[in-house]
Amino acid sequence: MKILVINAGSSSLKYQLIDMENESVIAKGLCERIGIEGSVLTHKAHGKEFVFKEQMPNHEKAIQMVLDALTADDCGVVKSMNEISAVGHRVVHGAEDYNTSVLVTKDVLDCCKQNIELAPLHNPANIMGIEACQKVMPGTPMVAVFDTAFHATMPQEAFLYGIPYDDYKNLRIRKYGFHGTSHMFVSSEAAKALGKDIKDLKIITCHLGNGSSIAAVKNGKCVDTSMGFTPLEGLPMGTRCGNIDAAVVEYLMNKKNMTIGETLNYLNKKSGMLGLSGVSSDFRDLTEGNAFDNPRNKLAVDIFAYRIKGYIGQYAAVMNGCDCIVFTAGVGENTPYVRNMALKDMEYLGVKLDAEKNTHCPRGQAYDISAADSKVRVLVIPTNEELVIARETKRIAKI
Ligand code: ADP
Repeated sequence: MKILVINAGSSSLKYQLIDMENESVIAKGLCERIGIEGSVLTHKAHGKEFVFKEQMPNHEKAIQMVLDALTADDCGVVKSMNEISAVGHRVVHGAEDYNTSVLVTKDVLDCCKQNIELAPLHNPANIMGIEACQKVMPGTPMVAVFDTAFHATMPQEAFLYGIPYDDYKNLRIRKYGFHGTSHMFVSSEAAKALGKDIKDLKIITCHLGNGSSIAAVKNGKCVDTSMGFTPLEGLPMGTRCGNIDAAVVEYLMNKKNMTIGETLNYLNKKSGMLGLSGVSSDFRDLTEGNAFDNPRNKLAVDIFAYRIKGYIGQYAAVMNGCDCIVFTAGVGENTPYVRNMALKDMEYLGVKLDAEKNTHCPRGQAYDISAADSKVRVLVIPTNEELVIARETKRIAKI
């Protein structure tokens, strides 16, 4: 059985075709510059890369080109679209409507549309991806997998803000959390790696990429996470500021003569590692080679690590302990400096890294980097959000 996984952005669309017999990726690719001059599809299959330059005015055309590539003579991997049993779609915001993945129906699509006001940058593109697939593949079951769903188990004291309660009830202002598929995947992989039932574990998962979030997973359920009403809250990220006093917004607008839109753009796109370093949002640029010769590069990364440490302390407190800390995503998997700075001087909590293992952590597999006498296991686990979406699609579509 083969499942197509779609992650549609406003001008891009990533896909993977996964063979569920052995969960292997048969083909994958990326459509870029949808609706913009110079659209391009990069398709990887049979160990080769195929590039198609053809205008994609909309997502429907992009999906059509993806299906053509998947079924073509030279770069194709299936004989016909009928071999694709179902399509799993990443949908960023499920609000309080969805605490699990669902089969896409008209009602589900309507609900996702109503939630556009909560995720104006993401949900419209996700919906376009679904509608484009429905047109091109009528009859194939579609499943929506929400970034927010895994966090639906947070208790009120974790997800409510200190603002008038009616504005939670009427305007839906609360913490939702994101990266749920990743936190779900790596927490269950951690339990597997430790040979324990996830129901007996307190796990802190650190998804550190361009966007970053941390989750507290107690007995298999998320009890708190660092991203909030939007992905702007929490850690400082590649270009996002993370937690900040809300009063800064008005002050910035006045002092820099910016509109509210410009101010949010400043906080989302010009802040974080980019703003602090003045150099780059990319952790490779900030940490590799002699990057620390520039003290602001080091300062930016140290601020990031300091905030991670704070969340770990908070979540260990919230869960009355911690059995395991997981690092995942681009930075979490590849940047020993961040892991070391975030976890050093944490002996009080029972956390002790093995410096050698941390530095020479092999890529692409679950790896324990804690010292033999560390009470808390520290694991580096590659995330795989596409695989979670494919598994969820298989489960929900009952195929
Ligand atoms: P996202 O999915 O949020 O766009 P990723 O999880 O791919 O982001 O993470 C991107 C970040 O991970 C970048 O800052 C990049 O520098 C960092 N990263 C990716 N690969 C490596 C690597 N091999 N070494 C160091 N950092 C890496």
